[in-house]
Amino acid sequence: MRDLLAALDALEAEAAAALAAADESGLEALRVRFLGRRGALTAILRGLGELPPEARPVVGQQANAVKAAIEGLLQARRAALRTAAVAGLASDRLDASLPGRPPRLGGLHPLTATLRDILEIFASLGFVVAEGPEVELDYYNFEALNIPKDHPARDMQDTFYITDDVVLRTHTSPVQVRVMEAEPPPIRVVVPGRVYRRDADVTHSPMFHQVEGLLVDEGVTFADLKGTLSAFVRLCFGEGTRLRFRPSFFPFTEPSAEVDISCVICRGAGCRVCKQGGWLEILGAGMVDPEVFRFVGYDSERYTGFAFGMGVERIAMLRYGVDDIRLFFENDLRFLEQFHAL
Ligand SMILES: [Zn+2]
Repeated sequence: MRDLLAALDALEAEAAAALAAADESGLEALRVRFLGRRGALTAILRGLGELPPEARPVVGQQANAVKAAIEGLLQARRAALRTAAVAGLASDRLDASLPGRPPRLGGLHPLTATLRDILEIFASLGFVVAEGPEVELDYYNFEALNIPKDHPARDMQDTFYITDDVVLRTHTSPVQVRVMEAEPPPIRVVVPGRVYRRDADVTHSPMFHQVEGLLVDEGVTFADLKGTLSAFVRLCFGEGTRLRFRPSFFPFTEPSAEVDISCVICRGAGCRVCKQGGWLEILGAGMVDPEVFRFVGYDSERYTGFAFGMGVERIAMLRYGVDDIRLFFENDLRFLEQFHAL
């Protein structure tokens, strides 16, 4: 009899502990486990038949008391969980009339936006993007572009030298040579990237961006160059933009030209930006010099090509009316945020 009474006490204690930790979904399982027909209480009462008859009512009474206690605990726990759930709902309630908090969106840097637009235009004309190293061998930056050691054109470029043979590239043109070394014609690439020159004022930055273009195939003429650049200028600056070529000199193109567009501010009438001339210089171009083809092993009797290069900062300044190149690199949010809607 003692054993059964002890077992009933233990059962009540076990049930109390289990119920205190239970959530609402676990309550029914606990009821079945302790009070169900195959539950723990029933199992204890099976031992009742082995007791002497006079002991049975004592254990039976105790069993009923334990059963009632566990049922009471179950009800109390269920009620407590309900109360807590309702209180939780009340404190978490959502006020749908509050104004929203808009996420703060970043925007593209004006140079990134300009560069992407330029590349997109050339992609629509069939050009693919090629890239090359910014730390470049003198050979690719100068020598193979027909600019030997003693050539005066080296002075035009105010180079950052790392060693006698290694430079920070002064233009994206060395990538032309790398592309042509790597694959035979036809070639149709645009090369975006950072370039470096020892030069700094309102229109020059020691680091700036260029986009270079190169097209090589059989039968390519200056007319193809003009057609390609005319299409680019119209797509970049608008349908009515005019274009003019002025003879110029670059060691790696022959003939060479500088290309102007009609002023995007005054449409050619004359203003401060175009210094009253009505024209703005935007890029340099020309037919690839046969000497450059010789460096990369192309047959200059069979192939001809054109190349062009432009400064991304220059084009962004004209597009957005920015008059100091340094603003692009100061990371002043008051400046940069003006471009987010563009
Ligand atoms: Zn103008």
